[in-house]
Order: sequence, then C-alpha cells, then structure tokens
Amino acid sequence: MNEHGALRTDVLIVGAGPVGLTLACDLARRGVSCEIVEREATAGRASKAKTIQPRSLEVLDDLGAVEHVVRHGVAGLPLRFHDSSGRVVDRPSITLRARSSFQTPYPDPLWIGQFDVEHALRERLRQLGGSVEHRAEAVGLVQDRDGVTTTLRTPDGARRLRARYVVAADGGKSTVRRLLGLRLEGETRETERWYIGDVTVDGLARDHMHVWTSDEGMLALTPLPHSDLWQLQAPVPAGTQPGTPTRELYQRLLDERNAGVTLTSATWLSVYRVNIRMLNDYRRARVLFAGDAAHVHTPAGGQGMNTGIQDAYNLGWKLGAVLGGAHPDLLDTYSAERAPVARTVLASSTHKLDRTTLRLGDDADKLGAALAELADDALTTGLGIRYGSRLDDRAEGPVAGDRAPNATGLRGPGFSGDLFDLTRGPQWTLIAFDNDDPALTDRAGSFPLHVHRIDTADGILDGAGAYRRIYAPSRGELVLIRPDGHIAARVPHDRAADLFGALPFAAPVR
Ligand SMILES: Cc1cc2nc3c(=O)[nH]c(=O)nc-3n(C[C@H](O)[C@H](O)[C@H](O)COP(=O)(O)OP(=O)(O)OC[C@H]3O[C@@H](n4cnc5c(N)ncnc54)[C@H](O)[C@@H]3O)c2cc1C
Repeated sequence: MNEHGALRTDVLIVGAGPVGLTLACDLARRGVSCEIVEREATAGRASKAKTIQPRSLEVLDDLGAVEHVVRHGVAGLPLRFHDSSGRVVDRPSITLRARSSFQTPYPDPLWIGQFDVEHALRERLRQLGGSVEHRAEAVGLVQDRDGVTTTLRTPDGARRLRARYVVAADGGKSTVRRLLGLRLEGETRETERWYIGDVTVDGLARDHMHVWTSDEGMLALTPLPHSDLWQLQAPVPAGTQPGTPTRELYQRLLDERNAGVTLTSATWLSVYRVNIRMLNDYRRARVLFAGDAAHVHTPAGGQGMNTGIQDAYNLGWKLGAVLGGAHPDLLDTYSAERAPVARTVLASSTHKLDRTTLRLGDDADKLGAALAELADDALTTGLGIRYGSRLDDRAEGPVAGDRAPNATGLRGPGFSGDLFDLTRGPQWTLIAFDNDDPALTDRAGSFPLHVHRIDTADGILDGAGAYRRIYAPSRGELVLIRPDGHIAARVPHDRAADLFGALPFAAPVR
C-alpha cells in the first residue's frame, strides 16, 4: 500500500480485448510491471472481427503469439453468391494478398474469429507470467502529477489501484473516456444497422463464405475456422426498426431469401450500429487510449481490431522506454503517429461502406464487385503505414518512418535466417552494411540496441542479395530500426553520430 492507500503497478490496462492483451504481452516481455483488468467473468466468445491482416500477423510474430493464429486461420476464403431462384455464382476471396514488394512472411490476411486471436494473446501472456484479472471493472479514476488511482469494482468489493500510467483499452463505450469527460468526435449512422451473430447451421459447405442477394439486402454467413460457428451479417432493412435479435428472427431472414439453411443454435446475437468517431488526442496526461476506446469505424475493410493491435504495438515500447527513464514527451509521439492512421482508416472505411451500401440489394456481379473493392493492399494490410513525413529523397529502398521490410536468406556465424529474425524482440536494431567500425558497438553499449553487420568479413552474409535489393544501401550505411519495426533513421557511414542522436528517446539499459 502507498500513501494513497492503493496497491501499485507501473501500468494498469483497462480491458482485455485484443488491444489490451497485445499491450499486456508487449509490456510483460519488457519486464514492465503491469496489471490488466476485465469486467467480464470470462474471455470473449463473440467472433466480431474475423480477419487478421498481414501487419498484425507480423506484430503477433514479434510478440511470440502468431503460431496459434496461423494454425487456426484460413487464407483466401472464396465467396459463393446465391440468389432466391437457387442460382449460384462463385467468386474469389475479398481479402487481398499483399504485394511482394512489401516483403512480409505473412502476405495473406487470415480469416479467423476474434476470440481465437484473443486466445493466442492470452496464452502468450500466460507464458510471459501475466494473467487477466476478471470481474474487475474500472469505475473511478483520478490522476495527479505522479500517477493515476483507479477504483475497481470486484466481487470482493471496491479497491483502488495506483499506477504510473493507465491505458484505456476498454472498447467503444470506454468507461475511462467517460470518467475523463472525453467524447469521440464524429457521426453515428442511426439508420444504418446490421444484424450480427455467431450461429451453427445445417446444410452448408464450410469452404466458402456464402452471400444471399436479395432486394431486402444481402445476408452473409462466414465460416469461422476451427469451430462449427458461422458469423451471420445482414442489414436491417432501411426505414425499419431492428427487431430483437433472436435465432427465430435470423432464421426468418434466411427463409425470406430462400436459403434452404436451418440455424441450429446461436451463441451471440446482436445489432450493430455504424459509428464513425475518434479522439483527436490519444493522451490525457498519464492516461492513454488505444483501440476502440480511441476510434470506432465501419467494419468495411476489416480494420478495427487490426488498427487497435497496431496502436498497442506502437505504444508498448514507448511506455517501456519512459518507465525506464526516457523523456515522457515520447508518449506524445504515440498519438501523433497513430491518430492520423485512424483518421485515414475512418475516411477510407466510410467511403467503402457507402459504396457497398448502394449495392446491398444488387446481384452477384454488382455486389461482388463492390465487396472486392473493400481491401486495398497499402492501408488494409497495414504494411504501407508510415510514420512522419518523408524527409528523405532516397529514390530506392525504404526511408525513415516506413515499416522495415523483411529480407530473407541471411547467414553468418551461428545464424541463418531473415532480417525479421534479427529485429524480433523488444530492443532497437542497428543494421550496419559493409561497415566494421568498432565504435558502433561501443556506442550502442548504453542502449537496448542490437548491432548487426551485414556483408563485413566476420558479419552476416546477404547470401541471396535480398538486403541489397530491398534496401539499396550505400557502402557503410546504417539503418536504425525501432522496436516496433519502423525505420527510425538511415544515415551514411560518416554520420553515425547523427544516428545516435536519433536515439534520444531510447531508455538507457536498466
Ligand atoms: C460485426 C463486427 C465485425 C467486425 N469485423 C472486424 C474485422 O473483420 N476486422 C477488424 O479488424 N475489426 C473488426 N471489428 C472491430 C473489432 O471487433 C474491434 O475493433 C475490436 O474488438 C476492438 O478491440 P478492443 O480491445 O479495442 O476493444 P474490445 O474488443 O471492445 O475490448 C474491450 C474490453 O474491455 C472490457 N471493458 C469495458 N469496460 C471496462 C471497464 N470499465 N473495466 C474493465 N473492463 C472493461 C470489455 O468487457 C472488453 O472485453 C468488427 C466489429 C464488429 C462489431
């Protein structure tokens, strides 16, 4: 107990959805003391998000949580359109494989229920020694200069928890946001509502996503891999109020479309209302917002969970650095980098939804064409996201702010693998190309920084020439890669001092 009569931790994460769990894993592997609380009694069982994108897969890989997701996910689920006369038209998946120039080990978005992604993260958190405290609801919050005191309602009564920072990952209706008197700015589409649910059915092949076209609007059933569940989605017809979502109602929606499908059970039934809103600033002193607590958008393009996972990944290393002694202003860069991403996602997913809505009552050709345009590989895959403006006029290769692409086929003393094998982990990485200046390693000594030399006499060999092809480095060039895999700086060999100057925010080794 401390002077405020509360137990202490460095970071309290409110909410154990995919975003809170991602952050908890990242902080746990950094050795940051952290608590994660969740008001529900058990892990989430609703499918909600059903695609995970390439950049999020890279994040999970770095955190050590990707294996379960890759094993349970399905790439390229094709579409089967049905009309009321029984005509069937097959189309390829609406997900888009990332173009090869992104150089990712995970080019394919995977179809997978959100509960399965959360499962992978929970398991990883457990391996890292952490766990979620269930039935603990944040109901009060007071912050001062040194920390935040949160009141938690638990079955054993209320208790207070003092943390140096609180991260609100408590979803679209964020209690923390309300407690601080903040509002998401934007619009709610009161008339655009969707029935949604997780159901089991008889009589349908699980190797396709099925879409029934009708004047009433489409109805989609998507198989959730490694389960017997299907996610059902259908628009509430324009000008009508949604009925209470029940299995009987959803059966009627199918029958109206002559689907010939029987719903046998339902584990989640809900009505979804389109919200297009965000916070302009994700930081309020010692409280930071991530995921749906910071931005909510239309499901078009499948971006909510993915944007949130990538928020957490941007925040984790910054919190770790500040708690380790780096200047707290580093935390301002979190909102500065991530809010513009959400703004772009909001604009793009709204535009896509509007285009698709016009086609909801159309046939397979027109609706299929609209659905096929939901994915675009720079934004939806997350691989084209860059932080900061392009200061570099480099003609070839990635620049500061870009995600550092992978390079395969590296080998050296005791090592054989990819660039991502070198960057994996919570540290910064410095790649020195054809540069054996010993001072680099000496200077790096005071930072959590791994130095790797490529194409020096006793360094790693760029065996297949992939690093040279992708990065187009000059002789002696240095590439500094942040813990979240974005390039912090690229400098020629004689400007190593500038590069170490670009590390003001990296915490000294504790
Ligand atoms: C129909 C539908 C389809 C979607 N499809 C996709 C898709 O294909 N791809 C995609 O990326 N996204 C999709 N999304 C969006 C995605 O589900 C969300 O963006 C994602 O769940 C956000 O994660 P989160 O962790 O921020 O919040 P949540 O998942 O909402 O988690 C917040 C957690 O905080 C807990 N909590 C709330 N208040 C408190 C409190 N006071 N104290 C303690 N705990 C609290 C909640 O119980 C919850 O567990 C879809 C959403 C819907 C509804």
